[in-house]
Amino acid sequence: MKAITRASCFDGRGTAFKSAKFFQIGFGTKFLTCSFIKWRFEPRKYNKQVKQVEKLKQFLELYSPRYGNLVRSLSYLLVVVLVVKILGNSNSFIAFYQSSFYPKIATTFRTFTGYFSFSIGDIAYTLLGLYLLISTIRNRKKFIQIVFPLLLRWCATLYLLFHVLWAFNYYGPSLAEKQNWNLEYSDTELHALTRKLIRESNRLQFEITKNKSTAVRQTVSDAAVENTVLKYWFLPDYALNYETPSVKKSSYSLALSYMGFTGYLNPFSGEAQYNYESPNFNRSFTIAHEIAHQLGVGSESECNFYAFQVTAAATDLHLQYAAHATALRYCLNMWKFKNPVVLNFYQKSINQGVLRNFEEADAFWKGKSTFVEKIFETFYDNFLKFNSQKDGISSYGKFINLLIASNRNDKI
Ligand SMILES: [Zn+2]
Repeated sequence: MKAITRASCFDGRGTAFKSAKFFQIGFGTKFLTCSFIKWRFEPRKYNKQVKQVEKLKQFLELYSPRYGNLVRSLSYLLVVVLVVKILGNSNSFIAFYQSSFYPKIATTFRTFTGYFSFSIGDIAYTLLGLYLLISTIRNRKKFIQIVFPLLLRWCATLYLLFHVLWAFNYYGPSLAEKQNWNLEYSDTELHALTRKLIRESNRLQFEITKNKSTAVRQTVSDAAVENTVLKYWFLPDYALNYETPSVKKSSYSLALSYMGFTGYLNPFSGEAQYNYESPNFNRSFTIAHEIAHQLGVGSESECNFYAFQVTAAATDLHLQYAAHATALRYCLNMWKFKNPVVLNFYQKSINQGVLRNFEEADAFWKGKSTFVEKIFETFYDNFLKFNSQKDGISSYGKFINLLIASNRNDKI
């Protein structure tokens, strides 16, 4: 018993008790005596206590300057995700957001960015990217303490802004729910739609090129294509009217091609961006799709549906062709998946010029297909699913379901 009262054991210097530095945080001789007795006579229980204290110390270390930054950033990210999910699941909040808040804020942003011919959003992305890159290089030796927490904080802030400025639209009621449409369809209905789209695509391709074998090209400038789309973007049946345009070429078109995107909406600036490098026969369809996003449509299949309605109803033949040829590609892809024999059968009845457009588009995307595209595809697929779009990236093709549902009462 004498040994444990030595001064050395209080500051951990005692050689006999080095393994029990635990005494350093003891609270007096009585405690130490009891601890010693426990250690001596209840070694298992004592060791358990030591382990518990070690765990506590490790936990407290998280709040030390070394890890405090990381823990605070993680907590901030968790709180942001939690708040977004709670608000996203509140029907009254989403109704307020879609009917009042979003239209006002989107119009304000588009009015501002619409003054500029270049993309404000792309400049903002570039500046932010540079800032994060410089911060990473400067603090590369403190990745866990500084760089990673900084990236987490930016992710959380951008995720919050993304929702405030646009993405709560993901949580609104779907078009099928609003219109009371049944999205299931039979093979007969898909056959009917495919035949109609082939008929229209062939007719328009021939009217534009005067030759069944020539691929369709938009021979006017991209600005002229933008203006033509804007002229027709009007869907009173769906309460969608586009009044304050802000459509821009993306400065990152080459990068978009490698990522596999034809366009995107910049949610932070409200600008609709399109990839001017991609094949142009259906560029007007892409622009119409991005404008639907600007008007608060979250679902990719619905944006395709609205883009079809706008471009198919135009008097401009190129826009009509973009609508029918794009929808036809989706139908053919569906047959490729369902029944390749039917796909072969239909391909024989399509004009060579139309097929050339498809082949050129396939060759373009194949030439840009690398592991980068696969990474973005996987990321985007999961991103959509995380944001209440349960079909992920395959939701683009679901616009065929919407087309069939909307045409169900028409004679195709
Ligand atoms: Zn989209």
